[in-house]
Amino acid sequence: MVSPAKKRKLNSDASQKSAPPRGLEYFFAKQRQNGTSSDSESTSREDGSAQPGSQEQPLTDEELARRLQAEWDAEVRAVSGQNTPNPALGSTDSGSEQLAPTPQLSQPRSPLPAIHTGKPKNTLSLSSAGATEDQLSASIPLDESPLTFNPATYVARLQESWTVDGGRATYALLTRCFVLVNGTKSRIKIVDTLVNCIRVLIEGDSASLLPAVWLATNAISPPYISMELGIGGSAISKALKQACGLDNRALKAIYDKLGDPGDVAFEAKKKQSFTLRKPKPLTIDGVFQSLVKIAKAQGQGSGDVKQRIVDKLLQDARGGEETRYIVRTLCQHLRIGAVKTTMLIALARAFLLAKPPGADFATRDAQELAKLKKEELAEIWAGAEQAVKASFARHPDYNDLIPALLENGISEDLHVRCGLTLHIPLMPMLGAITRDLFEMLCKMQGSEFACEYKYDGQRAQIHCDAEGKISIFSRHLELMTDKYPDLVSLIPKIRGEGVQTFIMEGEAVAVDRATGELRNFQTLTNRARKDVAIGSITIDVCLFAFDLMYLNGESLLDQPFRRRRELLRTRFVEIPHHFTWVKTLDATSQDQESILAFFNAATDSKCEGIMVKLLDNPATETQPNNAPEPPSDPQPTPLKPPPEKRTRRKPLLATYTPDKRLESWLKVKKDYAATSDTLDLIPIAAWHGQGRKARWWSPILLAVRDDETGCLEAVCKCMSGFTDAFYKANKEVYAEGGTNAHVRKPGFVEYAGPAPDVWFEPREVWEVAFADVTLSPTYTAAIGLVSEERGLSLRFPRFLRRREDKGVEEASTRGFLAGLWRKQEERVDVGKEVAGVEQEEDMEA
Ligand code: AMP
Repeated sequence: MVSPAKKRKLNSDASQKSAPPRGLEYFFAKQRQNGTSSDSESTSREDGSAQPGSQEQPLTDEELARRLQAEWDAEVRAVSGQNTPNPALGSTDSGSEQLAPTPQLSQPRSPLPAIHTGKPKNTLSLSSAGATEDQLSASIPLDESPLTFNPATYVARLQESWTVDGGRATYALLTRCFVLVNGTKSRIKIVDTLVNCIRVLIEGDSASLLPAVWLATNAISPPYISMELGIGGSAISKALKQACGLDNRALKAIYDKLGDPGDVAFEAKKKQSFTLRKPKPLTIDGVFQSLVKIAKAQGQGSGDVKQRIVDKLLQDARGGEETRYIVRTLCQHLRIGAVKTTMLIALARAFLLAKPPGADFATRDAQELAKLKKEELAEIWAGAEQAVKASFARHPDYNDLIPALLENGISEDLHVRCGLTLHIPLMPMLGAITRDLFEMLCKMQGSEFACEYKYDGQRAQIHCDAEGKISIFSRHLELMTDKYPDLVSLIPKIRGEGVQTFIMEGEAVAVDRATGELRNFQTLTNRARKDVAIGSITIDVCLFAFDLMYLNGESLLDQPFRRRRELLRTRFVEIPHHFTWVKTLDATSQDQESILAFFNAATDSKCEGIMVKLLDNPATETQPNNAPEPPSDPQPTPLKPPPEKRTRRKPLLATYTPDKRLESWLKVKKDYAATSDTLDLIPIAAWHGQGRKARWWSPILLAVRDDETGCLEAVCKCMSGFTDAFYKANKEVYAEGGTNAHVRKPGFVEYAGPAPDVWFEPREVWEVAFADVTLSPTYTAAIGLVSEERGLSLRFPRFLRRREDKGVEEASTRGFLAGLWRKQEERVDVGKEVAGVEQEEDMEA
């Protein structure tokens, strides 16, 4: 069987072969054939070499491209005094250039020394659009090992070719990076490619690093600053039709064939035979600024402004690949797998190796690093990565991180400049999932821990400064102060004496104000999201506080949970049914009965289960995983932990570790089915229903996510747990012929089973319960993680609910699925082991 990774590689190879790169001369050769050229100056051949008899040395494509670019730039400079182009993208100025009614062809361009004709600005040039890919950028081996790749080899030549906007790095370089990253499943290669691209930018045009990082991470601002592009698919289609000279039917035909808008754009650009305007290479910064302008365009006429910017981007994109990634960026779905963690790792490594001209921080010599042992090198990388990740987890904004790195590299300064800051949300600490109380007790054995109700509401991170300004952030770091004016008005009342500044975390839960009874999560989702007026609130909430990360100018992150909780409980004032602390029970693994009772009480009160948190840091550096603390009750109970296994591992700390899912926080959810685990899956395709369900989609194909590549791997068909109302609504969302339903399998989906009737646009996450995880001959999810030949699937999957709080990028990963399978297998083993011990005990008795 061909592995999915191989399949993708084959596909991409095939697509490359079907589109042989055409030199610039391709077009001019065509011009000559068509008799449009009357000029004998045009002496170059398709391969860029001089014609027989010419005195010129043969030119490479790259040299030719550079020369032509230099000519065009000279023209622009020559006329800029008469008609200064409007730097705002999509200006009418550029529009007139493209759309003059009677195009007049420019003189054919010659590889001979530039003959500047001094044409007026609005004279049109004709050039082969598909052929103008930047050959220099496209030839840089960015995927080489950073220990052998030397940016200095390329920087000077690149800088020479960066002739636009005062020498800004071209988008072609970033496109090269995206193409390489997209072409591999290897995480090492992805990181290496990013590292090298970042190094080239640091050394060649450091001002383009920040926009490059935003573009590569598919964002233009941190999550708490709302910047929506607000453009629909139709704006992109319109621009593509115009830029590539296609009509509706031609574009639709490509769309039906390919599905992914970026791939459609790639094909459309290939079909474009010529363009009636001079290409002005896109720069990284130019593309980023265009996106910012799109996001900022508001009010009347903003649609036209946005459209003009999109038009201009697509006209200026050189070649199919630039077009593909511009369109993916505009759709906010880059699919290059350069997710946050990969980017932070790449930044850390790049700044170990490179610094901008003039900077005086220390870097490491790549050749010296190459001589180190594997473990030594890993340690050096890890140190830098840890510093960058920790800083970003406390202060997740590239606008602050990148300037700090460019100035001082990886240094102490990072934690000062990019540390915990009021009104900038830190990334939340997360809890590791456990299958049941039994597993939790095994993990926590030997420690004191707090069991807390796991409320089913919305996580709220509340910042309050000395002036009383309040910001409330969601779990995904979005600003939601406007959504909770009632919580804002509460803060002055709960601030105890002496509390000036703080960052606190809690769960906002819908409640019955009179009785304090909890309401379910669904009730909370009925609350308006934006600009809520306090008088209009119909869904009351109570904040159940569970952590305190900052108090009166001091970070508490390094304090153990017991201390943080004490401050939370003593420095703030409870207001029943409005603000209180989470219900809690302090315990050890011997308190099995009270823990079970507490767990049942939690689930009876509409809570999802319990959170279990380590209270103290360990006294010693290393300790056994399961400290010798035999259960006092000699009778086996259903919760009894298995026999101890003495294993050495890093001791767990009770500190607040932003952005980490550690076992110092465990979540135990109530049993949904045969297993308490659930998966958050993405619906990706479906079949027409049978019988009663004939009008709806059923079954529905669900997928996990590959967090390295962004691909989606089908894991099971689901046809249980849906109501008829749900089916009906679902059919409307994924209506045939609509924008969310496609006829072709998107390239980013891995699925080898019988073809579904429709492919869904991935846009939501569903929580799914199941009996167990099974090895599957059909499904390829997590293939290579537990078996080389088989993927994983689910037995008896059952839809539970739509995860409104989760985006597609937060769906369960293939790694998580594989982890569940391993845990299931371990549990079978542990079960046998416990049964064995119990038998022995019984026999002794
Ligand atoms: P999950 O969404 O399943 O990963 O569970 C973690 C979420 O549970 C957190 O993000 C909080 O929103 C929520 N939660 C509810 N109660 C607590 C609690 N006592 N401690 C921590 N998180 C809680």
